[in-house]
Amino acid sequence: MSDQPLATSITFPVPFAVGSMNLYLFRADPPTLLDTGPKTDHAREAIRQALAAQRLGVKDIERIVITHGHVDHFGLARELAEESGAKIYIHPYDVCKTETGYDFMAEKLPLLKEAGVPENQLRELAAWSRETEALLDPLEEAHPLQENDLVAFDSFALEVLHCPGHSQGHICLYHRERGELFCGDHLLKHISPNPAVEPSPDAPERRSRSLVQYLDSLEKIERLNVRRALPAHGPAIESPQERIAEIGRHHQRRKDRLLHLLDGQGSTAYELGKKLFGAPKEMDVYLVVSEVLGHLDLLLRDKKTVAENRDGVIYYSAAA
Ligand SMILES: [Zn+2]
Ligand SMILES: [Zn+2]
Repeated sequence: MSDQPLATSITFPVPFAVGSMNLYLFRADPPTLLDTGPKTDHAREAIRQALAAQRLGVKDIERIVITHGHVDHFGLARELAEESGAKIYIHPYDVCKTETGYDFMAEKLPLLKEAGVPENQLRELAAWSRETEALLDPLEEAHPLQENDLVAFDSFALEVLHCPGHSQGHICLYHRERGELFCGDHLLKHISPNPAVEPSPDAPERRSRSLVQYLDSLEKIERLNVRRALPAHGPAIESPQERIAEIGRHHQRRKDRLLHLLDGQGSTAYELGKKLFGAPKEMDVYLVVSEVLGHLDLLLRDKKTVAENRDGVIYYSAAA
């Protein structure tokens, strides 16, 4: 195989804290887009320009693969699929987040109440969630992609790796001979991906232990000895092994800081989040609570904390 890049990266600004987004356009047959960006003019124009540079148009896209069901990754997918007839692929665990009627707030509310998030913060988050709905079209039909599936092209194939953590249905695509990983939000150069708490796909009455899963998924990637990782946000990662080790150390430090905040009285995840990160606003409250619950799960596993349910709110104290 030649040294030609497997895909062209398409970068443009997005109206989220992360700032910008990278999509990947595979020119090989069938022409495939990895992620689409949200439903914004920035995304539309960047995709059209990148296609035109390859003497292609939107109509030529035959396949759209979505790394996970966050709006920045799939918001524009339906519009592109309607114009091109492209088939859309996503992991089954994330399909629900892309469907008509999906209600982010209703899904997260029990978790956030349990975490002690006050009413005014819940209202702010609900308003944010309604606003972001303008950045997506729900998907009508999506085909499943899961662990061990292949995304095949005429001259090569990418392996699908299920990497739950940041999202329950997050997938990465791997070109084994080249050691190149299209890693979505699983591995980012300057940010540690948020271990978003969600209902567990197989047992919706329980919440996911997203950071425990994330670290397991990170270990799975570490074992591959990837040479180059191409993320959905920020620059390419030329030393993935180093970055993986760095993220591991980061979580270790954060876990230690959280341990020092625990006392004998008990605190909610929300209270601990405020101590760690300051008072959160809008969307941040969900990210902060996810971050804290993730590290509390690690401490629970280490038997360093105990959890107690008091009238539907969970309090964490230092283990005796
Ligand atoms: Zn994401
Ligand atoms: Zn993202």
